[in-house]
Amino acid sequence: MNKDIYLTNSFGNKKEKFVPINKNKIGMYVCGPTVYDDPHIGNARPLVVFDILYKVLKCKFGQKNVAYIRNITDIDDKIIKSSLEKNISTQKLTEKITKNFHDDCDYLVCEKPTNEPKATENISLMIEMINKLIKKNFAYINNKHVYFEVKKFKDYGKLSNKNLDELIAGSRVEVSENKKNPEDFVLWKPSKDNEPFWESPWGKGRPGWHLECSVMSKKYLGDKFDIHGGGRDLIFPHHENEIAQSRCANENDVFANYWIHNGFITMSNEKMAKSQGNILKINDLKNKINGQVLRLALISTHYKQPLDWNERLINECQNTINKWYESYVELKKPVLVPEEYLDPLYDDLNTPGYIANLHKLFEKSQKGELKDKEVFISACNFVGLLNVNRNKWETFKKNKTDISEEEILAKIESRNKARDSKNYKEADKIRNELLDKGISIEDEDGKTTWKFK
Ligand SMILES: [Zn+2]
Repeated sequence: MNKDIYLTNSFGNKKEKFVPINKNKIGMYVCGPTVYDDPHIGNARPLVVFDILYKVLKCKFGQKNVAYIRNITDIDDKIIKSSLEKNISTQKLTEKITKNFHDDCDYLVCEKPTNEPKATENISLMIEMINKLIKKNFAYINNKHVYFEVKKFKDYGKLSNKNLDELIAGSRVEVSENKKNPEDFVLWKPSKDNEPFWESPWGKGRPGWHLECSVMSKKYLGDKFDIHGGGRDLIFPHHENEIAQSRCANENDVFANYWIHNGFITMSNEKMAKSQGNILKINDLKNKINGQVLRLALISTHYKQPLDWNERLINECQNTINKWYESYVELKKPVLVPEEYLDPLYDDLNTPGYIANLHKLFEKSQKGELKDKEVFISACNFVGLLNVNRNKWETFKKNKTDISEEEILAKIESRNKARDSKNYKEADKIRNELLDKGISIEDEDGKTTWKFK
């Protein structure tokens, strides 16, 4: 593919031609989940957006030449709070939520990243970076805490294009008597008695959140790499702080060349927030919507724009996928998608433009030529759509109409009653009946959940 890729760089907020540092070794780092609670639909958007960017980069530069790193934050205040509330260890909680997160990624038809490092597995590297920052006089120790001294880094605020005063005024800055200045942020803090801790030169404690991404991106991609991504809510303070730490520790003029941020999701035009009670967990959708329908909905709007989540959007996407399956053919191997159809994806990941092309290819494929159908299916597969064969899709649809949620719940109740009275034969019979209808059930912590296989 000779075409260039263009991306909107949040740094400067301009569309720029993507020029890699080394075209045989492209590096992309995306901030992953904090595993304290099951992922919601807002978390799903960056997963799908950067999955598509990963595919486009691989198409342009070759499968083996692109490294996609996405971290797992498995130590954090929210994790500690949630584990105390649930009365389980942070390790048990983070393992469970990480598993759920991976299930959600599979459901959304996302490819696995090249590496998925966990914060807790990289603490010694974090201590090393803090030591460097202290030695270079960018960080200071006070009362078992280590802070980064923001005013020592002259480019602070360049990514969000704001000066320090504006940034402080626009966000909640953590107040602490241990800090020299309110804008300084924590690199290391002591753990309380009931909190997980690691030994460090500053006592038993744990790292600040921002540090892990500086350390893990360096570990896999080096001091300077091509693309850093995440949701736009991460620009400040998280990404500003990552830049400050990395550039000062590595004594570099650049941390990442291209900063790519996706927009928010609103729910029927309202902000999605815990306080609004309108948080939609990905897991809650699995029983109702096929993953590729959700995926199509998530890419129906350009990644930079806000995306409004509503019933109409889902219905439209459901109908589109349904219609597209009319042209389904089994591919022996993927067929080359003509360059001109891929154009929109190369142009700042314009997924709505690409979907318009898929509609055109579908119309063409309906005229009956097998080759056109093969091109259409390959083009859908390129963005992770029509990823299951027609039978599986029909089964999913049939299951949806064959058995209602009430019936499923009633069957689960009968099965659990049978189990309670040790009638395992009957319990297994009911489980198998559900399996025949494409529904699998799972028992955990005394609760039974179900999903379509
Ligand atoms: Zn990060």
